[in-house]
Amino acid sequence: MIIPRESRLTDTQLAEVEAIVAEFGCRIQVIVGAERCIYAILGDERHETMMNRLLGLDYVDRVDAIDSPYKLMDINSSLAESRLSLAGVELGKEPLFIAGPCTIDPKNPNLFLDSAAAVKEAGGHILRGGVWKPRTMPYSYQGDSKALGILVEAREKTGLAINTEVMDGDHLKQVLEANVDVIQIGTRNAVNYSLLRQIGEATAGTKTAILLKRGRPMAPVGEFLAAAEYIVSAGNPNVMLCPRGTLPAMDGYRNHPDESITQHLKEKSWAPVVVDPSHSVGRAAFVPGAALAAMAYGADGLVIETHLDPKSGIGDDPKQSITPDVLKQLILDARDIWRIRRKYRHGHLATAS
Ligand code: PEP
Ligand code: MN
Repeated sequence: MIIPRESRLTDTQLAEVEAIVAEFGCRIQVIVGAERCIYAILGDERHETMMNRLLGLDYVDRVDAIDSPYKLMDINSSLAESRLSLAGVELGKEPLFIAGPCTIDPKNPNLFLDSAAAVKEAGGHILRGGVWKPRTMPYSYQGDSKALGILVEAREKTGLAINTEVMDGDHLKQVLEANVDVIQIGTRNAVNYSLLRQIGEATAGTKTAILLKRGRPMAPVGEFLAAAEYIVSAGNPNVMLCPRGTLPAMDGYRNHPDESITQHLKEKSWAPVVVDPSHSVGRAAFVPGAALAAMAYGADGLVIETHLDPKSGIGDDPKQSITPDVLKQLILDARDIWRIRRKYRHGHLATAS
């Protein structure tokens, strides 16, 4: 990973660097951070001669070789220096709250627009809403592109940033045209490596953030980080990791609640962790407990399915959406837990070195 002396390399400098690494079978991926660009060396970057030649360039500040299978996502990557800011929230400095219905019902736009207004009033930063839905049964409601227009209208009316899931290249094209702020990759596509790469490439160099859900069958932490590495190595470092429960489900829950993986993710990677307790536990009654636990585990934010009138909703809303009054209280309490959690770091008091 090449860190330039200035905020970015000139075209001539980049061409020189590319020519050097190409001699060793590597290539450069430019990653545009908030303050500066870094230049990831993709391939085996441990060639001593290559490293020495790069270090000899007077416009290069540092060359870091990270011995990790997910070298860009690794905590020691230079990307750890960059900070993601979304909807006026700098992640890590204050908690981020994404909330809204599971599914936008195109037959009832006002219900979504009213839910959106209530999410804003409750203190949410980003409005979620499913336009296209990955459903287990092919006969269940699959979504409708018309709902994207309703989501965009809700952004115009509330001023909230918007989040929705894409499942293929056609959805991706539509959300890019609509300038959706956060693109969600759902649990079923968390290992769809060509989609991950395609989304990373299509959003490289933009401010678009990616909310990557943890795959349901994913066990090792490294597998989740490797999935995120696909997006980042394609050029977009604005990734949020979203634990949302795994399989096999724990008796009484929709999935196996995995809020506790947050601690491992934070130890291994710099990426913000934004937990989804709704799909993890799968019942509105259990969402507040799981949400507060996630904050205690060190999450940087939450994604919570919230609906003005869950029983009139579609998709997951009737069973697992909380109502805006509950969201409002939960955001206040989650902020408290977030503050308390920050007193501790890796088993020590955060003020101690
Ligand atoms: C959703 O967010 O509504 C959803 C389908 O999420 P997941 O991919 O986690 O099931
Ligand atoms: Mn859902």
